[in-house]
Amino acid sequence: MKRNVWIWRRLVLLENRYKHGHICAPATREKVQRPSTRTEKTTMASPVPPVSQVSGCRACCVPGCASSQLRRRRSLKAAAGLPAAGTSIPRPRQRLDGRRRLRASPASATGPPQLSSIRSVVLDIEGTTSPISFVTDVLFPYARDNVRKHLDATYGSDETNDDIAMLRAQVEQDLSEGIAGVVPVPPDEAGKDPVIDALVANVEAMIKADRKITSLKQLQGHVWRTGFESEEIKGVVFDDVPPALQKWHASGIKTYIYSSGSREAQRLIFGNTTYGDLRKYLCGFFDTTVGTKREARSYYEIWQSVGVDRPSQILFLTDVYQEAAAAKAA
Ligand SMILES: [Mg+2]
Repeated sequence: MKRNVWIWRRLVLLENRYKHGHICAPATREKVQRPSTRTEKTTMASPVPPVSQVSGCRACCVPGCASSQLRRRRSLKAAAGLPAAGTSIPRPRQRLDGRRRLRASPASATGPPQLSSIRSVVLDIEGTTSPISFVTDVLFPYARDNVRKHLDATYGSDETNDDIAMLRAQVEQDLSEGIAGVVPVPPDEAGKDPVIDALVANVEAMIKADRKITSLKQLQGHVWRTGFESEEIKGVVFDDVPPALQKWHASGIKTYIYSSGSREAQRLIFGNTTYGDLRKYLCGFFDTTVGTKREARSYYEIWQSVGVDRPSQILFLTDVYQEAAAAKAA
């Protein structure tokens, strides 16, 4: 009797929950084994249809229902810090390395200029027209190994006096800024050898740090001149540089060089390449006297010098992103 009352109460409860929409509508009524710890084997009509037959249920509390499984997946994802299914993932405003994410823009708004409108080309040297190894493995070691010999041979000449005066000014500035490894240069009254010793120590440290300063580049150009004139060193350019220069020259496009190396060094490199003298294809040279290569102002100065109406008529080619960004900003 008690068992019949329990079954009746259970059926009424299930019926009420079904009427009020608290459980899914059964798609089939099939006899399944009821999970129970009781010893007697009772069977009941399961109100729970297979998950694959259920859709749209949002309020069911019956274990195994699709709705309850959906809530469970959401709770697990929430515990794991993951967004629930159907939730849009917010895009991070910054990349993990701290740099701003580049946003794609319509080509018509910020795309590259039409090549047909290009009237001038400005070329970087290191990494663009010439291998970086030519600079780091040939030019820099030659200047480092021959700077003492050059200063000793030309000491007292107007050119070298000017080089020394610029280096003195740079050393004074470096000392005031507390740059490590700077050696004070004694006055001329101290004698030739102490002055050269200090200059050589500073030049070696500047070359090692790959500093792009005018005083160093000017002296390096004078040292390299000896090497180019004696054919100890030859200018190296990539294979596609000579035909490109020739093509631009034939089509009326004016080509310039902009490098942190001195203008004299630039003329030496392009006047003594393994392809011969390429200066006949070039219209001019710019160095850091117009400004450093990562400043937009430098490219404004170049635009003022090359004689085109708009900056967009100049194509600047480089291997350094910051230089390209500065040129674009100009
Ligand atoms: Mg470069």
